[in-house]
Amino acid sequence: MKSNSSTAANHFTITSSQQNRLDDPVAYVRGVGQARAEKLSCLGIRTVSDLLWYLPRRYQDFTSTKPIADTVPGEPVTIMGEVISVEDKPTSRDPRLWLSIARIRDDSGIAEAVWFTRTKSPKLRPRFSPAPPRGALVYLSGVAERAYGKVSFANPEWEDATRGVEGEPLNTARVVPVYGLTEGLGQKAVRRIVSNALSGYGDEIREVLPFEVLGRYGLPERRWAFLNVHFPSDMASASLARRRLTFEELFLLRLALKWRKSQYKASGTGLKHGPDGQLVAAFMKNLPFALTRAQEKVIREIAGDMEGPTPMARLVQGDVGSGKTVVAAYALVKTVENGYQGAMMAPTEILAEQHLLSLKKLLGPLGISVYLISGSQSQKERQEALTAARSGAAQVVVGTHALIQGDVEFSQLGLAITDEQHRFGVTQRAILAAKGGRPHVLVMSATPIPRTLAMAIYGDLDVSVIDELPPGRIPVETHWVMPSQRPRVYQFVREQVSRGRQAYIVCPLVEESEALSVKAAASEAERLERDVFPDLKVGLLHGRMSSSEKDAVMTDFRDGRIDILISTTVIEVGVDVPNASVMVIEDAERFGLAQLHQLRGRVGRGRHRGYCILVSQAASEVARQRMQVMQRTSDGFEIAEQDLRLRGPGEFFGTRQHGLPDLNVDILPGDLRVLAEAIEAAEGVDIEELGPGRRLEQLGHEISRRFGGMISWTGV
Ligand code: ADP
Ligand code: MG
Repeated sequence: MKSNSSTAANHFTITSSQQNRLDDPVAYVRGVGQARAEKLSCLGIRTVSDLLWYLPRRYQDFTSTKPIADTVPGEPVTIMGEVISVEDKPTSRDPRLWLSIARIRDDSGIAEAVWFTRTKSPKLRPRFSPAPPRGALVYLSGVAERAYGKVSFANPEWEDATRGVEGEPLNTARVVPVYGLTEGLGQKAVRRIVSNALSGYGDEIREVLPFEVLGRYGLPERRWAFLNVHFPSDMASASLARRRLTFEELFLLRLALKWRKSQYKASGTGLKHGPDGQLVAAFMKNLPFALTRAQEKVIREIAGDMEGPTPMARLVQGDVGSGKTVVAAYALVKTVENGYQGAMMAPTEILAEQHLLSLKKLLGPLGISVYLISGSQSQKERQEALTAARSGAAQVVVGTHALIQGDVEFSQLGLAITDEQHRFGVTQRAILAAKGGRPHVLVMSATPIPRTLAMAIYGDLDVSVIDELPPGRIPVETHWVMPSQRPRVYQFVREQVSRGRQAYIVCPLVEESEALSVKAAASEAERLERDVFPDLKVGLLHGRMSSSEKDAVMTDFRDGRIDILISTTVIEVGVDVPNASVMVIEDAERFGLAQLHQLRGRVGRGRHRGYCILVSQAASEVARQRMQVMQRTSDGFEIAEQDLRLRGPGEFFGTRQHGLPDLNVDILPGDLRVLAEAIEAAEGVDIEELGPGRRLEQLGHEISRRFGGMISWTGV
C-alpha cells in the first residue's frame, strides 16, 4: 500500500513504502559476508542495486561445446569430461611458481589443462589448487591449443558439470561475464555473488520505463535486461540488454534535468525586471564596437527571460572568441539597473582578473562598482570585497571558486553567472545561485557539443547560441609540424614579434603531477630565453604562481612588455589578448581536440591573422587524425563532432566534465543512437505525470532514487 506522506510542496520525496528492497545493503546477498561487503565497497558497490548495476566489462563466449578431438586451436570452446589425474608441482625455473596440471578425458580423447599459482615462499604448496579434483565431472572453458597432437588449455575456467545445488554453470559452457575486480575478489566470486543477487532479488526488479517507450524503441523489459546483461543466453541478448540499461540511464538523467528545470521555474516568481532603461541605453552607447546579430539575438532572449515571470535559467553557447563577455555584461547592467547585484564566477584566477578588467572598462564609466573575490587576494582586499558584497556597495562581484565559499554573502543577488560552465559542476552553480533568493541564472560555455548531447547534459537550461564571430576575424592558420622542425617554428615566432605581435608557447601538463608540469614549463622558459630568444622578452606563467605574480605577468603580456609567454595550460580558457598572433602547442598529441581548439582560440582575436602551430610526433592513428581535424577546420561544432567520433560521448558525462552524477554505464562511441533515442523519448514525457497518483509515478520514484540529490538542489 502506498502511504501518502509526501507533501504537496515537494511531492517527489520518497515515501517509506517506496523504499525498495534493492536498496538493501549488499551484505544481505547470499554469499556476501562482512569481508566481501568491504571488498565490494572498494568497487563502489554498497547496495543490491549497485551490484546489479555493476555491469560486466566484456564477455567471453564459451557457448560452443565440443568433443576434445574436434576442438580447433585458437578457438574459445567448452569441453566436458572426467578429471583422470591432477598434479601440483613447483616449476623448475621459479620455485615460488607452482604448476597444476589436470588431464580430462571424454569419449573422443584427452586434454591437458595447466594453471599457474604464485606462492609466498619457495616450495610452499599453494593452499588451494586451481585444478579440479580427480574424478570430478567438469565443464572446462578456455582457448584450445594444440601441440604435438595434444589438446591443451592454459588457465581455463572449470566448473562442476553435475549441476548440484548451485544450478546452471556461471563460469563455463555459456557466455561468461568478465567483471572489473579488486584485490582479493576473483571473477568466480563476483559471478557467484551477482548470480545470487539475481536469484534472491530478481522479483524485486520492477519496470520503470513507460510501456509505450519500451514498445516504440524495441527495448526489452527491465528484469530480463538485468538477467541478460550479466548472464546472457547469447551475445545478441547481452548487447540488447546493455542497450536497454544504457537507454534507461540516459532517459532518467534527461528527465531528472527536465524536472529540475520545471521545479526551478515553478519554485516561485522570478525577479521580474522592467524593460531596458537609461543605464542599459548608456551601456549600449558606450560599447567600443557594434554588436553582432547573434549577440543581439541572445541579448534579446536574455531580456525576455529577465523580464518574464519565472527566473532565467539559460546557457549561452558560443565558440571561442564569439563575444560572450559583453553579453554577460549586458545582463549585469540590467540587473544593477533593477536594483540588484550580479555575480560572475570564472574557473581560473587569470580569467577572473581579466573579467574584472573588462567589466571595469565596460561598467565603470556607468558608475557601476565592480569587485573581485579570489582565493589568493590579501586578507584586507578580501574583507573589503566581502563587506561590499554584504552591504550591497558592490554592485557586481567577479571571482573564482572563492565566490561560493560560506562567508560570501550578498545583500540582494539578482544574477548568478558562471563562465566556462564546463569547468564547474551542476552543484557549484547551484551554490552560487543559492546565495540569492531565486536569482536569474546565466551560464556560458565555449565547449560546443552536438545538440543531442547538449540536451542530455544541459537539459535543465534554455539554450542560446552565438553562432557568428565578430566581423573582420581572419581564420587562424593551423600547421602541424614535427619536433625536428622547431628551429623553423622559432624563426617564425621571431618574425611575428618583429612585426609587433606576441606569442604563446604552451607546454603540456604532466599528467602525474602539476608540480612536474610547472618544472617542465620553467625549464623550457629558461632554455628558450637563454638559447633561442636571448634578445626578446620571455615570460613564464603557471598555476603555482601566486595571484599577484600571475597578475603581474598577464599585465606585462597584455601591455606588450612580454613578447613570448611560456605557459602551462592555465591560459587555456578565456584569456583575451588581441595582439597575440602565434600559439605554439608543444606535444600537441597530449591534448584532446576540445582543449586544442580552446588553446587555438587564444589567437586571432584581433585584427591580425593568427597562427597555431601544433608540434607533435603524432605517433598514434588517433593523434594523427586529431592533428588533421585541427588543420582542416576551425568550426567548434565540427570539432566537437569529430571529438565525439574519436573519443565517444562517455567523456562528456560524469563529474569531471560537467559535474553531472556518474552514470552506471559507460557511454561508448556506438551509443550515440541510443542517446538520441533516449532524449527523444524523454521529450515526450510530461513532467507533471511523474507526480503522486499520476500515470508515471513509478518512474518519478525511480528518478528520485537515482538522481534525487541533484534534483533537490534549490537552484539551477
Ligand atoms: P568569448 O566568447 O571567447 O568569451 P570574448 O567575450 O572574450 O569572447 O570576446 C573576444 C574578443 O572579441 C574580445 O576582445 C571582445 O572585446 C571582442 N568582441 C566581442 N564582441 C565584439 C563585436 N561585436 N565586435 C568586435 N569585437 C568584439
Ligand atoms: Mg570568455
